[in-house]
Amino acid sequence: MPMRPCWVEINTQSLENNFRFLAGLAGLEAELLAVVKADAYGHSLSLCAPTVVRAGARWLGVTSVEEAVTARSLCPDARILAIGGVFPGQGQEVLRQNLIPVVWDPAHLDELDAAARSADAAAILVHLEIDSGMSRQGVDLTTNLDTLLARFQASPSLQIEGVMTHLYAADEADGQANDEQLRRTEKAVTRIQSAGFHPAWLNVGASATLVSGQSARIVQLAARLGMKALIRPGLSLYGIAPQFDPPFEPPEPPALLQSRTQLKPVLSWKSRVISTRSIGPGAVVGYNGTFVATEPMRLALVAAGYADGLDRRLGNRFRLLVRGQRAPLVGRISMDHAVLDVTEIPAVATGDEVVILGTQANQEITAYDHASACGTIPWEVFTRIASRVARIAV
Ligand SMILES: *Cc1c(COP(=O)(O)O)cnc(C)c1O
Repeated sequence: MPMRPCWVEINTQSLENNFRFLAGLAGLEAELLAVVKADAYGHSLSLCAPTVVRAGARWLGVTSVEEAVTARSLCPDARILAIGGVFPGQGQEVLRQNLIPVVWDPAHLDELDAAARSADAAAILVHLEIDSGMSRQGVDLTTNLDTLLARFQASPSLQIEGVMTHLYAADEADGQANDEQLRRTEKAVTRIQSAGFHPAWLNVGASATLVSGQSARIVQLAARLGMKALIRPGLSLYGIAPQFDPPFEPPEPPALLQSRTQLKPVLSWKSRVISTRSIGPGAVVGYNGTFVATEPMRLALVAAGYADGLDRRLGNRFRLLVRGQRAPLVGRISMDHAVLDVTEIPAVATGDEVVILGTQANQEITAYDHASACGTIPWEVFTRIASRVARIAV
């Protein structure tokens, strides 16, 4: 059935190119884990997971066991890491679907160990997350690592295949937080090895690590520890190079300069003009009359509102593209509609394409444009595009 005109186009060729470019940045000594959590950052897991696998990804990263089960149905041969832990009752599914859970809490080991025993399974591979400084996920290194390692020693069916940690300030150019976290990671891995474990993968770093050229440090650290580096890009796969704050002192790292030209946004978000009208001075536009015309105006109604993910904070303070020009959003954004001032673009007519995010003619609206207008980050802009907005491969 033809749809209400509010849709997202996913350029799978750009996604493939981005993956290959990032793999090139990481070099032959590192592998990439393509982060496709949260429905591939709102880009559609079912479009993106098979695409990155086609581009050469052996590893996929998702948040939950549920997401991993969906990823497994799309990519039967991928190594699928469930980053967000294992919840009670999920152990059987981890085994059945051949998933690799990230673990850091004794409860995770209890759940997996019970599943492995009841199924008489040879081994469940896990990545042990350590808290190297973020105080989020990961085993606390000062109080809990030894206890957890003892627990692993008592559970031969659980095998530590990787050690994972997350860098909390990889997008700060001074790199001080990274330095400290990598120092703690090295010490922790040495302790894990002394306890008799020999994990193959050092699972560290995200987009900012890659595009700043810092992945070389992860590779060196892994080599020093007799491991192989596994790096986990998300945002950059979708064509957005993270911005650094504070920024780099010039000259910027070559990897960052290259990333800005080579990474191509994968997602475009579009709608159409569904009607136009002319209003006179004094006419109110939208809820609560936050915009009142002071002169004759022409308005275009667009089939996108906050229920589609168009942030309500953009009302009266952002522009969308129509006929290759920027038209201001006037009045409040409604649940299903937004209104553009097209007084200066007289040719606008019902059916015209409106670009909410993406390019039209030589104009572009980026995820960072949306993010800065709303005081948030591109990650949130993408993941807030509602599920009712169809994702279409182009
Ligand atoms: C989301 C996530 C990533 C990917 O981060 P990007 O900045 O989008 O590249 C990597 N690792 C973990 C643990 C994550 O949660």
